[in-house]
Amino acid sequence: MIRLKRNLLLTMAVVMVTVALPMNEALAQKKKKKSDAPVVAAPAPEKKPEKKSIAELTKGSKKFEGLFTFYQDTVSGELKMEVAKDQLGKEFIYFAQIGDGVTDAGTFRGAYGENNIFKIVRYFNRVEFVKQNVSHYFDPSNPLSRSADANISPGIMASAKIEAEDAEKGTILIKADNLFLKETFSQIKNPPFPGESPMAFRLGNLDSEKTKVLAIRSYEKNTDLAVEYVYNNPSVLNGGSSAVTDGRNVSIKVFHSLIELPDNGYEPRFDDPRVGFFTTEVTDMTSASATPFRDLIHRWDLRKKDPNAAISDPVEPIVFWIENSTPMEWRGTIMDAVLEWNKAFEKAGFKNAVQVKIQPDDADWDAGDIRYNVLRWTSSPNPPFGGYGPSFVNPRTGQILGADIMLEFVYHTNRVVYDKLFGEEAALETHTSLGNQPHFCFVGAHLQNNMMFGQAFLRAHGASDLEMEGMKKEAMAELLMHEVGHTLGLNHNMKASQLFSPKELADKNVIEGKALSGSVMDYLAINLSPDKNTQGHYFSTTVGPYDVWAIQAGYTPVKSQAELDPILALSTKPELTFGNDADDMRAPGKAIDPRVMIGDLSNDQIAYSIHMMETSKKLMEGIKEKYSKEGQSYQELTQAYSVLMGTYTTAGGVMSRYIGGVYVDRAMAGQEGATQPYTPVSLKDQKRALDAISKYMLAPNAYQIPEDLINYLARQRRGFNFFGGPEDPKIHQQVLNSQRSVLAHMTHPNTLQRMVDSELYGNEYNMATYMSDLTKAIFDADINGNVNTFRQNLQIEYVNTLKGMVTGPQSNRYNNFAKSAALYNLNYIKTKVNNSSGNVSSKAHKDHLKLVINNTLEDVK
Ligand SMILES: [Zn+2]
Repeated sequence: MIRLKRNLLLTMAVVMVTVALPMNEALAQKKKKKSDAPVVAAPAPEKKPEKKSIAELTKGSKKFEGLFTFYQDTVSGELKMEVAKDQLGKEFIYFAQIGDGVTDAGTFRGAYGENNIFKIVRYFNRVEFVKQNVSHYFDPSNPLSRSADANISPGIMASAKIEAEDAEKGTILIKADNLFLKETFSQIKNPPFPGESPMAFRLGNLDSEKTKVLAIRSYEKNTDLAVEYVYNNPSVLNGGSSAVTDGRNVSIKVFHSLIELPDNGYEPRFDDPRVGFFTTEVTDMTSASATPFRDLIHRWDLRKKDPNAAISDPVEPIVFWIENSTPMEWRGTIMDAVLEWNKAFEKAGFKNAVQVKIQPDDADWDAGDIRYNVLRWTSSPNPPFGGYGPSFVNPRTGQILGADIMLEFVYHTNRVVYDKLFGEEAALETHTSLGNQPHFCFVGAHLQNNMMFGQAFLRAHGASDLEMEGMKKEAMAELLMHEVGHTLGLNHNMKASQLFSPKELADKNVIEGKALSGSVMDYLAINLSPDKNTQGHYFSTTVGPYDVWAIQAGYTPVKSQAELDPILALSTKPELTFGNDADDMRAPGKAIDPRVMIGDLSNDQIAYSIHMMETSKKLMEGIKEKYSKEGQSYQELTQAYSVLMGTYTTAGGVMSRYIGGVYVDRAMAGQEGATQPYTPVSLKDQKRALDAISKYMLAPNAYQIPEDLINYLARQRRGFNFFGGPEDPKIHQQVLNSQRSVLAHMTHPNTLQRMVDSELYGNEYNMATYMSDLTKAIFDADINGNVNTFRQNLQIEYVNTLKGMVTGPQSNRYNNFAKSAALYNLNYIKTKVNNSSGNVSSKAHKDHLKLVINNTLEDVK
């Protein structure tokens, strides 16, 4: 045994020497050995360098003991990592988080990154770091499980040479710089988008000399490394925003966490389509079911201290820490809002499930420490969100291991982050490459618009400072509850706003102490009562019935999945209705159910939208007076105008989704209260929506922007910032953008396709009839006389849309019925514009229309 070990060591030593020496020297040594061979006299034993032990190799290093022990050389900073014998072949969790970044590069403080499972596997004198696939399940009792790895590629992220080995303990030592100073575990630099502008900000190449380990923290169950990645670009076209000090040298700080897999008997819970949790998708490869899903919902490991009690404290509560950077005056509101969730947990059998503590000013830990769940505040130059509530999990079980909430100060101020608020939601959604993360949340930006709209409303009504503060606190509470909901595992419920009727919402006695919608996980419109005396809550101040029920479905302790069936069977109750982002209608042509929408409120979204548009119009009349302050520029007035226009456009967008809409019911067959999965919107509601859109967005006098206001829509000059483009108010373009935002949906190929298809299953609004109605709404009122410039813009836009449907580059997306309708309406308009009546401007406009139509019809021939 001993001999064997020694032999092994000797072999190892030879290998080490060979590898350690440059190639030619190693060859020379080999040759030398051969030529020495014939010499008869016993040669003096060759002096081979002793293989160094772990202790010797780490002699001048600082030791960081924990789950993984690290050594950092005190002279060079070189990093070495120890792997214990029992850690080889075992699964670990990897998790990455951005410590600090720049939004220019799609990275920002607190952004969560990779969260996966890896193994360290020995291969001769090396170890490999191998990412594991968690997407498939094979029933171990099924013989098919023997081919569980068939056609599934593992991810070998790195291979490191073993530098030393403890023969007794089996511990090995490897160099770790290549693991953590390179993008081995995580891709940090985003690839360029297809078709990205050459002017776009780009990170340079990773600079291995400047990239460095900032800190190592090793604990019993996790080891964290903070690394500063520096990207070098000798020559930059776009130096980035003010957040980038030097576009040629950009730093991104990343926390890497290596975490022990919890071995705690946690029971995974599987996803159900009727309630909205974040999940890790797992497919059962040995199941013959049509739905072989074992999708793991993300939730905390809550267990009752007293399993027999109806309501018990949890063994381990979910503790949130308010970061010590939080403004003092907000701490109370924040704490109360977070604790509101305990009302939901009580219905799931837990009291004090959620606890809130305040990080002491002299705390010896920071928010990057994954052992703490922190509510963090930042005031970033280019805030990427208003709130962000990510969590990281054990990918094998879905158990949430930690979560943070990032909150941006700017959304609680009057500084508008985006200049363009006119129905350009899409721009908000995609301005960073991290926008496609499921945890990414724009409710903060949305709430800021609401809050500023509320401010304009309250100012117009001469509200007191106290009322104003109260409204802002409600907005803050709604934001906090929403983000905490994310960290509890809940995704958005954009359908929840259906809870109350407009009449109920306008009555403070009805809504007192209640949530305004089924869920705080929605993006609601602000609740404004037409009568100031009956005004109740502006925002939700407690969690909604859906939230309570979702927590019950996710957290009620059960012995088997079947015990959850009675809870899930309640999903058909109106107050528990659910539809997430994937089903929602914010992008034109996307999804199908108009109730699953953002910026809406009440079970009559058309009526509520009309109310919001009327309110916007009324406020528009008075803002010049209310927002012009002596000694100040008109910046705030211009912003208030933007907010009013933005809300007006959002309300129009909400209504447009009724046209060609189909209600979706995700109840299971035979479930009590279930309806058929697809029910088209009634003819009456589709017509109501079109009529309101015609009146408020398409009619000749739809946008009544007071003319004496336009002269004052002036942003304050700052340096040379008008170099970007002329500063004058571009009213025609703004109005057209607002109209485009609804027309994009109303003439979308998906919408027109669905109108035709749904005629077969209940839709009574014939697509051709609808297109004809839309054309009449855009032309009939003024085509025989003078056409004002807003209508000219709209009519040209519409004719170009019809042209695009038959001959444009996107025309193949439209079905034949839509093309026929487009041609029919072009011919209709042609007969109308033949009159060439009206003033010079109107004549020119009609000639323009005629030319476009004739050319299009000619092209089709
Ligand atoms: Zn959200």
